[in-house]
Formats: sequence, C-alpha cells, structure tokens
Amino acid sequence: MQENPMSVTAVDFNLADLLRQAGAQIRGRNRADCPRCGGRQTVSLTEELFCCHHAGCNFKGNTFTLARELGLAPKLSSGEARALLLERERAEAAAQVFLARVRGARFGLDALHIELLNLQDEASERLKANPNDETAWEALAYVYSVLPRVRAELTLLSEGRFEDRQAWFEAGEDRGQEMADRILRVGGVPTFDDKWAAVE
Ligand SMILES: [Zn+2]
Repeated sequence: MQENPMSVTAVDFNLADLLRQAGAQIRGRNRADCPRCGGRQTVSLTEELFCCHHAGCNFKGNTFTLARELGLAPKLSSGEARALLLERERAEAAAQVFLARVRGARFGLDALHIELLNLQDEASERLKANPNDETAWEALAYVYSVLPRVRAELTLLSEGRFEDRQAWFEAGEDRGQEMADRILRVGGVPTFDDKWAAVE
C-alpha cells in the first residue's frame, strides 16, 4: 500500500459552501436555514461545525461529515485515515491545553477578586473607625481602580468567545487594558454560544 504523508487538504472544504450545496440558505456569518426540517435560521455554524437547534432535527455534523454525505470527500486510504485521526488528536490536545490555560487564568483572577473584596471590607471598616485613615483611603482607591478590570476579565474568560479569550492571552498589558475598557464600556461580552454575558 502506498504510504503517502498526505495533507488533510483533500478534505479541506468550506463549510458554508457545503451547506449551500446541501440546500441550506446561509444567513449571516454563523446562521443558516435548515434544509432538513425547514427551520428558519435554526442552524448554527462555525468554521468547522454545524448543528440545527430545531427539536427533533438531526441535521448536524462537521465539514468532513457533510462532505462525505454529499459524496464529495474521496475515500480515504488507510494512511490518509490515520493522518486525519492524528490531526484530530492534535486538535483535541491543543483544545485541552487551551482550556487548562483558561482554567489557570480564571483561578488566578478569582483569587485576586476575593483578595480585592477582602481589602475593600477591611478598608471600609477602618474608615468607619477613623475617617482620616489615609492608608485605608489608598487601599480603597486601589481596589476601585483594579476591580472593574478583574471583573471584565473574569467574564471574558468564563463565557467569552474562544477567539476573544485567545486574543486576551496574546494581548500585552496595554492591549489587555483596552479590551477590559471596551468590555466595561458595553457592559459585557458576546459569549461562546452566541449570547451575551453582562459583567457583574
Ligand atoms: Zn433542522
């Protein structure tokens, strides 16, 4: 058998094109009408995956499965199938690493958040006892300058879209501050499942 270190480009289709071929009407960047149940805008799609939300409709899959269904994907040789499997395992491993990173960052931010709230309580108590306690005023000023950003980042990391979380990890200090400012200005973030999460 020919061992061909193939690229997966043989199965590298564009999902929106495939959905059109399957009879779906694409509506905007990540919605489509369902060709199977006829639901309007019930199909969500990403670059890779699609899924109809209509109850009882099983129109879902990914680029590869749809290409297969449409008879467009060539039969894979065993070498190609193995390469595809490896590719998928690599993608899953990368996703695991990313999620672990998100968890780590959230853990750190959660701890910081609690620390800030404790500092705030402590400073408030001290100011009740002595309204001229300069150190307590400074502590409060610090808390109020940092807390909004921490909350914005916690919201982003907990519920934000994957690409936004990725951008946050890649952002330096200034860019990170810009992202937080923007989140605070609009009061929340678009979520990974196309909803909206408000900053608490
Ligand atoms: Zn459907």
